[in-house]
Amino acid sequence: MTAPVGIPPAVTEETEPFWTAAAQGRLLVEHCGACGAESFPPYGICRACRHRPVEFVEITERGRVYSFTVNHQRWLPGLEVPYAIVLVDFPGHPGVRVAGRLRGCAPEEVAIGAEVEVGFEPGPGGYAVPSFVAVSETVKAPGDTDAPGDTDAPGDADLSGAAGGAGS
Ligand SMILES: [Zn+2]
Repeated sequence: MTAPVGIPPAVTEETEPFWTAAAQGRLLVEHCGACGAESFPPYGICRACRHRPVEFVEITERGRVYSFTVNHQRWLPGLEVPYAIVLVDFPGHPGVRVAGRLRGCAPEEVAIGAEVEVGFEPGPGGYAVPSFVAVSETVKAPGDTDAPGDTDAPGDADLSGAAGGAGS
């Protein structure tokens, strides 16, 4: 894969735990101890009830594509296009939606409702940024799993296991 391009994130006291976990391949979202609301991106205060501080919880389940777009514009030199950016929600974490690049399937094969696994990619400035890997029951993998080198993503997607028995 190509060297990461783009602008490094502005890390604050409130978002530092998120970026530290991201470097370990773990996706954290904020959880409010007062009202139970969860939210992303980290903000340091509950968006629902203004309680703070908030806690972090880790998302370990698969998500589903809520919406997506395909970028064809080479915004920066070295940016490989086209690629899909998906907005993902999680059944066990209502209120949370996370955007990121989708890997493991061609941009034209992305579909709303498709299952994706959480992953990370090396991003600008050495930060790991959220990205997603298509789960191959719903989309066909092009054999390009493109594992991120040093981010140690949890549960590497087994894209090779598509046995064509999806049916329906
Ligand atoms: Zn709250």
